Amino acid sequence: MQLSNRSKRVTNKKMTFAEKIYLPAIAGGLAITLKHFFRKNTATIKYPEQQRPMSRIFRGLHILKRDEEGRERCTACGLCALACPAEAITMVAEERKKGEEHLYREEKYASTYEINMLRCIFCGLCEEACPKEAIFLQNDVMAPAFYSRDEVIYGKDKLVEPLKKK
Ligand code: SF4
Ligand code: SF4
Repeated sequence: MQLSNRSKRVTNKKMTFAEKIYLPAIAGGLAITLKHFFRKNTATIKYPEQQRPMSRIFRGLHILKRDEEGRERCTACGLCALACPAEAITMVAEERKKGEEHLYREEKYASTYEINMLRCIFCGLCEEACPKEAIFLQNDVMAPAFYSRDEVIYGKDKLVEPLKKK
């Protein structure tokens, strides 16, 4: 078999003395670091004290909204769970009892509503499926980091909008 004329022998270039001792390369790297250290327009920010504005279309942590009278909007219809491609939502529906009209908007409500944040891919389909405008993905609150698997199930205590003070 003949080798093409273009194939050449590869030889290793010999390192100069300066390249061998690495010091000029280290000094060059430090000079670049120092130049950026004193620049005013840096790309980094002092997070978390300083935060970047979120995009309008950012999809962050879910919230279960209340209506203008402070009642939970969710009626436990289950459409969000059906729409969820990650099967991240579970809920238990219960009938509203007499005297609870100030808590829940309609006859049925979710006594349990949980989202598994490890499964959630923040696609927003639950928000789109909801006929009651009850669930939204906030565009200014990020889903927090977790330290253990026990913390990833978000229940109503973390999802329901806090009551507004009158
Ligand atoms: S954002 Fe998407 S993945 Fe997350 S709970 Fe909603 S539908 Fe499921
Ligand atoms: S959040 Fe909306 S879609 Fe999901 S159960 Fe409640 S009312 Fe139904």
